[in-house]
Amino acid sequence: MSTSSPGVRTSPEMPIPERMKAWVLGGPDELFQTTKPVPMPGRAEVLVRIDAVAICATDLEIIHYGSPAKFQGGLPFHKNFTPGHEYMGTVAALGPGVDEYRIGERVTVEIHAGCGQCKRCRQGMYTACLNYGQNYGDVDKGHRANGFTTDGGFCEYQVNNINTLVRVPDSMTDEEATLVVTAGTSMYGLTELGGLVAGESVVVIGPGPIGLLAAGVAKALGATPVVLVGTRDGRLEIGRKLGADRVVNVKNEDAVAVVKELTRGLGADYVIECAGTQDAINMATAMVNRGGKICLAAFPHDPVTVDLPQIVRNNVYLYGIRGEGRSATHRAMAFMAERRFDARLVHTHSFHLDDLPEALRHARDRVDDAIKVVVKTRGAAAQRLAAE
Ligand SMILES: [Zn+2]
Ligand SMILES: [Zn+2]
Repeated sequence: MSTSSPGVRTSPEMPIPERMKAWVLGGPDELFQTTKPVPMPGRAEVLVRIDAVAICATDLEIIHYGSPAKFQGGLPFHKNFTPGHEYMGTVAALGPGVDEYRIGERVTVEIHAGCGQCKRCRQGMYTACLNYGQNYGDVDKGHRANGFTTDGGFCEYQVNNINTLVRVPDSMTDEEATLVVTAGTSMYGLTELGGLVAGESVVVIGPGPIGLLAAGVAKALGATPVVLVGTRDGRLEIGRKLGADRVVNVKNEDAVAVVKELTRGLGADYVIECAGTQDAINMATAMVNRGGKICLAAFPHDPVTVDLPQIVRNNVYLYGIRGEGRSATHRAMAFMAERRFDARLVHTHSFHLDDLPEALRHARDRVDDAIKVVVKTRGAAAQRLAAE
């Protein structure tokens, strides 16, 4: 970064190089390491030195299929695009006019900085910004979704709008801080979009990172009972530690029957669907109660057949969720900072940034029962960091 850029403030304590290491996407499943210029923060932006970045199932989707990334108006292949979006780090430079943060503060980030001017952004639904991806060439609306529509976090520095930053307390490790945005997504589905209040029943289908943290968030919000449904006993056990009152392995038990029994035959107030399969979506429609809500938090690959008559007859509300709107990450951080649920349970592996392909393999193939795999930029290069 050119430190003589007008209005940009840096500190001698954190010297910023001109170039940085960055992974970029060639064709499908082709990632290679190169160097790029360190980007420069604009108005209302800071430069974040990335210290840790978690791998999300959506990163694996983007690297393989391109979608749901939308870079310069299309798929992100062969565009020098850097994926990665669940990162945290240290404020390294301040854009013009920024006095909300200081250089040296630890922050974790939300993914989406909406345009701030469309109808959805004005409602706080900036992850559904109507100018999504309009941030290049002569259609620059100021929208950013790092790792989706703008360069992301598999590198050493990135710029973030200050509205995407959440301060990290000293007591929280870098690894745990990368999970705030995932917990924030669960929070957004349950509270801001869902309207959950204490005492309501919640079922989570699919114990991936969002589902596991949804169980923790639901319990912390006072939901009762919280039921977690899945197929792997190891993950269900982690869900129990995070706060699920009851876990159901569908290989051994009928999840709909268990939920009906726990709710005096009525069904659950909320079902959070995090599996993305036709069977799971129909399980959700069969176990939600009359007037209840189904939050769809996974991306199915193909169109699915759903029992719509059941939804209509029972006045069921069905809503998709994309990301972490209405600053839900701040509320997730409040819970995590107080250890209302222990998000550290979903972090299983750490690697160095130089070993990103190996880290991705662990996440994709669930090597050693990997759940959340975190990549760190600092420490000895090429040395695999010990799994916790
Ligand atoms: Zn993600
Ligand atoms: Zn917008």
